[in-house]
Amino acid sequence: MLIAVLISYLSLLCFPQSFFRWSVTSAHLTLYSDSSFPPEEGKKILELVEAKLAASPLFSPQMHHSIFICNARWRRLVLFNRQYRVGGVNYYPLTSNVFLRDAVIGENRLVSQSGNVVQGDRTLDYFITHELAHTITKKAAGWYRHLNLPEYVSEGYPDYVAKGNSFDYEKAKQAFLSEAPEMDRWGSGLYLRYHFLVAYLLDKKKQSVQELFENPMEQKAVEDEIRAEVQVGNIQSPPSISLAESQNCTPQHPESP
Ligand SMILES: [Zn+2]
Repeated sequence: MLIAVLISYLSLLCFPQSFFRWSVTSAHLTLYSDSSFPPEEGKKILELVEAKLAASPLFSPQMHHSIFICNARWRRLVLFNRQYRVGGVNYYPLTSNVFLRDAVIGENRLVSQSGNVVQGDRTLDYFITHELAHTITKKAAGWYRHLNLPEYVSEGYPDYVAKGNSFDYEKAKQAFLSEAPEMDRWGSGLYLRYHFLVAYLLDKKKQSVQELFENPMEQKAVEDEIRAEVQVGNIQSPPSISLAESQNCTPQHPESP
């Protein structure tokens, strides 16, 4: 009996299409919802998601992904299971289907637990891309290796893919160095710290994505390295002395530090 229930539940996760009446497809992605939405609005979101995913070397055009927007509470209770409160869930390698909580597709926004739309740079296409990036990283790294990755890699890389060009590296670096509240993963609920560390390794240190997954540095080692580089940079570039200061004159328009 228990096995029959389990098999039925796993089948539901793998083939939930009959519970989602509305859908639209664009290239390698299909967006399903349990509420009606204008197909052209859904397509726009899928195009944003596909562009972000295609920028990752792990993206494969051979793979099709399905995204299910769960507006009804009961669908979230059933399909999200123990992760009921999160924005989205990914069950790969069981299935490449991903499930997102309620959303306003026309506004490209996810609805948070409070009932308000999530504001800022975490748009609906960001949340969808983040979940699908979990699929492509699990597929590339292999399930077992992925399970043993440091969290800053397993969550940081999906965020790196999902934020796309909206990520401001220098702003994140300042927030990291000043230990700003948004860099506290558990306090803020954001992956900004992890994203910043991954961006440092890939964009500044020019590590390959393969290296990141095959031989990841410990989180503390990456953070220590960044802080050490900043210190060396400060020593090598002391504040410049203006001509007026060197002549012991009072500058008329002193520059801010
Ligand atoms: Zn995630």
